[in-house]
Amino acid sequence: MHLRLTAVFVMALAVLPACAADQRPPEAAPTPSAASTRAAEVNAAPGSVDSKAPTAPVAAALDGKFVVTLDPGHGGDESGAAAYGIVEKDSNVDFALRVERFLKQEGVEVVVTRRDTNYPPGITGTGRDGSRASLAERVRLANEVNSDVFVSIHSNGSADASARGIEVYWESRREFADENKRLARTVLDRMIDSSARAGYGIRDRGIIDSSCWRGANGRCVGLYVLSPAGQVTMSGNPQAKVPTQMPGVLVELLFISNTDDVALLKDDRARDSIAQGLAWGIMEFLKSR
Ligand SMILES: [Zn+2]
Repeated sequence: MHLRLTAVFVMALAVLPACAADQRPPEAAPTPSAASTRAAEVNAAPGSVDSKAPTAPVAAALDGKFVVTLDPGHGGDESGAAAYGIVEKDSNVDFALRVERFLKQEGVEVVVTRRDTNYPPGITGTGRDGSRASLAERVRLANEVNSDVFVSIHSNGSADASARGIEVYWESRREFADENKRLARTVLDRMIDSSARAGYGIRDRGIIDSSCWRGANGRCVGLYVLSPAGQVTMSGNPQAKVPTQMPGVLVELLFISNTDDVALLKDDRARDSIAQGLAWGIMEFLKSR
């Protein structure tokens, strides 16, 4: 079962061939005010399940200065890892909405690429087509609102049932390489700190350069949402995708294949402590820019 789940997970994150969405001409960069408006529009998408967002920011330290795109991985017919009653695609949304709430409390503008069990709004495809279109749409949304930071939110699955903890991927082949790495280290440290303060011992699995995430036939293949343009897919085809235009990381929040981690994933306080740490890390990174 875990092997099958891992295969699904691997396929879902693998760099996919360019799709129709990648062929669209680049859109004009929005102005800061347009970015804020767009963020509000995206967040008001039908089907929102966010009932926790505060009605007004409680702090103005970062008010209006930054836009953060949170991207819950998978969706639609792509569940990601699933075991012990946890389905990754839905768990990812729950984490994203918690992080959104903490960031909004600090006055950060937040875009969430999908807010329910489906793919991002407008993506209706299935199988590889849906997955591919969905990945391109996540990147397009982050770029359209001129995000300062992009964070893709996942949980892990492994054939090794003892594998557990949190790890964060960053990409070294980007112009933002140093910032990607610093963002990865910052959010991981804050998540470990935050959960420890709440009484949870979570394994720090470190930060991982995703530029050679999966080698196929001697090629290094990165994660779609983090990798630069001009790469080749696992099948060897040139990739015409538009990359994210801001520092970004992909967080793997615990292992759905490990029973100790699953207990944390089912613990509301533990989830909040991780989400709080991720928000703190993002804010620390933003303030230091
Ligand atoms: Zn995933």
